[in-house]
Amino acid sequence: MQVVRSIHEMREALSPVRRQGEVIGLVPTMGALHRGHGALIGRAHEGSDHVVVSIFVNPIQFNRDDDYNRYPRPLDADLEFCRQAGVHAMFAPTNEEMYPHPLKAFVDVKEVGDRLCGEFRPGHFRGVATVVLKLFQIVQPDRAYFGEKDAQQLAVIRTMVDDLNVPVAIVPVPTVREDDGLALSSRNQLLDPEQRRGATVLYRALRQAAAGISGGMTEPGRIRSRALSALEKEPQCRVEYLEVVDPGSMQPVDRVAGPVLLIGAIWMGSVRLIDNLLCEPHQGAEEHAGESACATASPT
Ligand code: AMP
Repeated sequence: MQVVRSIHEMREALSPVRRQGEVIGLVPTMGALHRGHGALIGRAHEGSDHVVVSIFVNPIQFNRDDDYNRYPRPLDADLEFCRQAGVHAMFAPTNEEMYPHPLKAFVDVKEVGDRLCGEFRPGHFRGVATVVLKLFQIVQPDRAYFGEKDAQQLAVIRTMVDDLNVPVAIVPVPTVREDDGLALSSRNQLLDPEQRRGATVLYRALRQAAAGISGGMTEPGRIRSRALSALEKEPQCRVEYLEVVDPGSMQPVDRVAGPVLLIGAIWMGSVRLIDNLLCEPHQGAEEHAGESACATASPT
């Protein structure tokens, strides 16, 4: 596995690969790799010949210094993880390499990125879209792999690629969970044992809301209340948002009449966790009747 620290070296390393007509797959990450990232790498091996994993804790997507400073950075373990996963090249640039001077150009994805995490983390998606476009320009992948766990991020990236005609196929990968349902996240390691036990409440609340849709609920207010009352039972949990949105636009729906995304963010102490569940009501579902299929499938 090649370990590459500079943009120039990354381009040099990939030019013979591209000349040979190999399909290049990029998995952008912030490191502290876990089985969730492993699933993205696995998918990349299925769909690409040459797998590049980028590891970069991107300062411009953090709106809180404490969050940025304590974000885990176990680079040696990540190196070993990538090696074991058969990654061809790991791109781990420094801040100076990515941002040699303060940026003047940014990517701003309106509407899709404005609400939910965009509202509570101002500037977050601008930072994400900008760094992902930079990574796309550096690696020039044929395919790039993103987790459905970050559903709004996936929608933002899809919109950017579509609107700006970026020649890369975006491949969504289903959320990987612990046995108790908690979505794997690099931030989970910051939870103390009690918070870790309570952290499953978000997934349980999303499931409760999904069960409401299965039971025929179509009114978002009632569906939200179901989830919120589940969240209230966990004393350590503070709810940031919990919404029923359109999976593509990330805008709230008036009524559940097609696929909807149940999406939420909570704080367990000082650790912020997000999760989502895609729900598809049974055709013709009415209040108090009908069925739905819910999964963490691709919000297309
Ligand atoms: P991060 O390192 O947290 O920025 O995540 C890098 C990529 O891994 C993003 O596309 C995430 O959506 C994805 N990812 C993180 N956690 C999971 C998970 N539990 N299941 C699937 N994908 C994930």
